[in-house]
This record gives sequence, structure tokens and C-alpha cells, in this order.
Amino acid sequence: MVSPSTTENLVVIGSGPAGYTAALYAARANLAPLLITGFQEGGIPGGQLMTTTHVENFPGFPQGIPGPELMDRMKAQAVRWGTRLLEADADWLDLRRRPFTVQAQGQDLRTHAVILATGARANRLHLPREGRFWSRGISACAVCDGATPQFRHEPLAVVGGGDSACEEAHALTKYGSHVHLIVRRNRLRASKAMADRVLANDRITVHWEHEVVALQGDDWLATVELRHRLAGSIRILPVRGLFYAIGHTPNTGLVQGQLPLDGEGYLTPQQPGQPDTVIPGVFWAGDVADRRWRQAVTAAATGCQAALAAEEWLTEQNLAVPVSRKPPQPEPAPTPQKVSPATEETYSPTALWQQGSYALRRLYHDSPDPLVVIYTAPGCGPCHVLKPQLRRVVEDLDGRMHTVEINIEADPEIARQAGVSGTPTIQVFYKKELRYQWRGVKQRRMIRAELEKVLALGD
Ligand SMILES: Cc1cc2nc3c(=O)[nH]c(=O)nc-3n(C[C@H](O)[C@H](O)[C@H](O)COP(=O)(O)OP(=O)(O)OC[C@H]3O[C@@H](n4cnc5c(N)ncnc54)[C@H](O)[C@@H]3O)c2cc1C
Repeated sequence: MVSPSTTENLVVIGSGPAGYTAALYAARANLAPLLITGFQEGGIPGGQLMTTTHVENFPGFPQGIPGPELMDRMKAQAVRWGTRLLEADADWLDLRRRPFTVQAQGQDLRTHAVILATGARANRLHLPREGRFWSRGISACAVCDGATPQFRHEPLAVVGGGDSACEEAHALTKYGSHVHLIVRRNRLRASKAMADRVLANDRITVHWEHEVVALQGDDWLATVELRHRLAGSIRILPVRGLFYAIGHTPNTGLVQGQLPLDGEGYLTPQQPGQPDTVIPGVFWAGDVADRRWRQAVTAAATGCQAALAAEEWLTEQNLAVPVSRKPPQPEPAPTPQKVSPATEETYSPTALWQQGSYALRRLYHDSPDPLVVIYTAPGCGPCHVLKPQLRRVVEDLDGRMHTVEINIEADPEIARQAGVSGTPTIQVFYKKELRYQWRGVKQRRMIRAELEKVLALGD
């Protein structure tokens, strides 16, 4: 599918709303774009929305939609119209010579045009147990998550002292019973007007010179521990929501030294509001150049602009090699399969993928083959990324091993007994012994290599 010897019309780097929208438009313009999804370097495939539970403000979904499902739909739409995906990070990019070169998975790919849609990642505090409470009390987006039911009429906290932190604290007073603003210094960095607004609001308490040092709770965040930076004294604050407003880091490492970046590392468009960069044929889309709005819908909108601009530029330069689709109207996108937990009636000893404790018990005790157990949780974006990769590997192994998916919310006792501390976790059993386990997302070839090692035990 990807041939290093040909020159691509267009490579889109990044698979968030900006990247998939750009690819969709380019594919519909018969450019057969290659989209490099990203894998670990700047976030997981699907981008930032893979880490959020519910998106309520993307038009067209009146009831809201889980972030990973929205991204699945965008991906399916882009692929349906002829986008080719390379599930890897772009490791290196040379924009100095034409055609441009992108290095991914050890291959040098040449392309006439590039859309940079590598997004930005919200900075984290990297506190112990932060991962556990991410999307379960901790959020990096008050605009997106502030209105969720868990935060209504509950005490909330915002960390940060700049304009965003003040804006978020102010906005959250609409939902929470009270808002605590946790500021490391003894003053706010926000504009005077914004700071005055916060200080005059009796529903906001500012904790000067404090930092968050610990998080507690069970399924959901319940308290945060604050330490006074000078006195060292500790204070426990009961809060159900903790919003980080400590800045974003744009994923612009690939173009550092090749394209102008602002003081915070965001790409600088050639002209404000336009998708062009200073290098003709190189375009931007989404949060990578947007320090202000950073929303899914604005990312998608700029993805559309970038693709249209790329198409126009390729045509003007007489570089585009159109790839016509046959038939012109593509097949419908496949509908995602839903697997229900296996029961005595539905359990099959030969099925490659089943769900739930019944299938786990039966396969563990009865099957002579290696057993892969994947522990997942609803709304876990990385689980969403890993599952299809694992599924394809297990299918390719021709029935030599079976997989059971355990939803740790539905089967918490199994997860506890298995010592699972987060999702996704994979455990591989052979002859009732745990042979191998890992946590987090891996690429397909790495999953295959690990599973083949376990299969080799039986050879
Ligand atoms: C917790 C959370 C909740 C949010 N909720 C909402 C919401 O409800 N509504 C809303 O409108 N917005 C929300 N946002 C903001 C929204 O997610 C972003 O504005 C949007 O995802 C930006 O899209 P993007 O395509 O520009 O970048 P991203 O979504 O950041 O995607 C960037 C992509 O680039 C890839 N990438 C990075 N580096 C490389 C590389 N070297 N090679 C290849 N690929 C690379 C990444 O893997 C990723 O796929 C939320 C953000 C967060 C963090």
C-alpha cells in the first residue's frame, strides 16, 4: 500500500479531527492521501478525543458521543473514501528538498505536499495516580467537560494562574458548588481584567502559593492534597473535579528549525487564519497552530481548509496524480461489531474473541491453547486503539490462541484478582500459567512478536 519508490500526492501527519477531516477532503478529491496516524510520539491514534469520555459539542450528535467513537467514525469516513493509513509515528521530516521526505517505520516516503495535523497535548502535573483519575475527575478541558453530571453542584478546583485558568475557574462556577483556584505563585499571570473578575467572585477561593501533591478517591476523584510551597503545610481539599490549565505543548518537534514557531512552540501560519505555512505545499490544520480555540470542530474546520488549499496548490503546480475510485461511490463503511459477554448458551470453545468472566473461566480451565486476556474499561481510548490491533494479530494466528475481553467495570473482582491497575492490560496464559503481560498500546508487529514467543512454548 505504501511504496517508498513512488511520490505521494499528499501526506497528512496526525489522526485527530484535523487529520481525518483533511484526509477525507483530499480523498474525495481523488488524491489518495496517505495519513500517518501517530502512535506514541505525540499522542495515540485518534488524538486527544481518545482520552475523553463524552463529547457534547460536536455538531450532529444531539445526545453527545464518546470521544473514541467519534474518532472511529471520522476514521471510517476518511478510509471509506480512499485514505490510506500508516499506523506509525512520523519520525523525521525534511521540508528543505522537493519532493519532501517523511520517515516513518524506517521508510523514507516522498511526497509533493504535507498537511501537519499533529495537534497539541495538554500539559499534565504527572502526579501519582493521575492516570487513574484522568477522565474520572481530572480534565484538561473545562469547556468540554465542565457540564458533565458528575461535576454538577460539587466542589471543583482549577490548577494554574494564567488567563485560561481564570477563565475556566469563572466558567466552572456555573456548574460547581464552589471553585478553588490553585496558584503556585503569589499573583495571577492573567490579564488584569480577568484576574479582577476572579478575585471579585465570591464563589472562587484562590489558594496562593499552593501546589497539588496527591490525589485520593475510589472510582472518582474525591480529595486533593495541597502543599504550601513556602511553609510546607498540607491541606486536604474535597473536590470532585480537578481541571488542569497549565498550558499545552504543541507537537512541532518534526518541523523545528524548518518552519517558524511562536514562543510556545505553536506553528505560525503564513497569514493569520490561512492554512498555508511559509513553505509552499506545506499546510497546517488543528491545534498544532491554534493556541486559542483548541476545539474538535475548529480542528476539523481547519483540516478541511488545509486539504482544499493542498488540492489547489497541487493542481496549480501540475503535481497531482489523481487516483480515480472504482466504483465512484464507495462501499458503505463497515458497522462496528458489538460483542456481548458470553453465556453458557453463546460460549464457543473455538471463537477467537469473546467477552466476560464465563468465557474466561471456560477457556482457562478447558482450552489447551494459549489464552490472551485483555482488560478494558468503557471510555478508555488506548483500549480502543489496542483492541483492533490485537484482534487482527489473533485472527492472523489462525486460531492458535483465543482472546477474552474483561471489562473491569463489569467484572471488578476479576480485575482485582488479576492485579490489574489500569487499562488496557494484556495477560497471556499458557497451561494455566501467566507467561507474559503488558500495559498500554503496542503496535501490531510488536504484539505479534510477543504472542509468537508464547506460541513457541508449545512447539
Ligand atoms: C480531555 C480532553 C477533552 C476534550 N473534550 C473536547 C470536547 O468535548 N469538545 C471539543 O471540541 N474539544 C475537546 N477537546 C479538545 C480537542 O480534543 C482538540 O481540540 C482536538 O482533538 C484537536 O484536534 P487535532 O486533530 O488538531 O489534534 P489532536 O487531536 O491532538 O491529534 C493529533 C494527532 O497527531 C498525531 N501525532 C502527533 N505527533 C505525530 C507524529 N510525529 N507523527 C504522526 N502523528 C503524530 C497524534 O497521534 C494524534 O493522532 C478535548 C481535549 C482534551 C485533552
